Amino acid sequence: MVLQDRSQLASANRIVVKVGSSSISGENEPQLDLLVDSIAASMKRGVEVILVSSGAIATGMPLLGITTKPEDLATSQALASVGQSRLIARYQQSLERYGLIAGQILLTSGDLDGAETRANAGLAMNRLVELGVLPIVNENDTVATQEIRFGDNDRLAALVAVLANADALVLLSDIDALYDMPPARAGAKALDVIAADADLSLIEVEGTSTGVGTGGAITKLGAARVATDAGVCVLLTSAANVAKALNGEHVGTWFSASAS
Ligand code: GLU
Repeated sequence: MVLQDRSQLASANRIVVKVGSSSISGENEPQLDLLVDSIAASMKRGVEVILVSSGAIATGMPLLGITTKPEDLATSQALASVGQSRLIARYQQSLERYGLIAGQILLTSGDLDGAETRANAGLAMNRLVELGVLPIVNENDTVATQEIRFGDNDRLAALVAVLANADALVLLSDIDALYDMPPARAGAKALDVIAADADLSLIEVEGTSTGVGTGGAITKLGAARVATDAGVCVLLTSAANVAKALNGEHVGTWFSASAS
């Protein structure tokens, strides 16, 4: 079903929620519980939810006494290896408050290109959802190489939303909406709705590296295009707004989808 506006997020059949590393690690770590509160509330209303969460590397860093995000792939992979299990354990601890169970899904971009692995991932995700489990997806960092990495989880989240036939993708970061130019610049205006056929090249965006994650508006726009072209609407807002967003309140930027 192609949703008409963001108020329908509260009663959608299935949504994919993506959260970035910096929104749930470091000083923002307490936001993880708020995210789980909102997801649990949606699930209770009958909305099927799949979570795409970054944060493996960011969670691993303090455990190994590394203070800046490493440049080299092997150290990033080692940090993800250490951090991913802790991240899922942290989600499980939070979900426990609602009697909910997390299921971990780690994917590479190759997995979503290959017909068999793609079908298997889709089947597993559907079954988890049917069983009332919250699937938590991340990139399989330890086996992804520089060339085949998604690069950020925005694109992964869009591909997962399409694979899972979600009605909407909710992209959560540290910024409350998409702006017509980088938001730190004077005069930047938040955009309310982006039509399915809008020319996204008119929006002035830049990538970011927050210290623990990668992404920014460029990857969000790219992900939004992948999703909306496949009939999946997108809401872009901050992790701090997650309760309002999943409740269908008027926050963030809404990307309408083409009826496919
Ligand atoms: N999969 C990576 C992680 O979970 C993504 C980090 C990033 O956003 O660059 O840490």
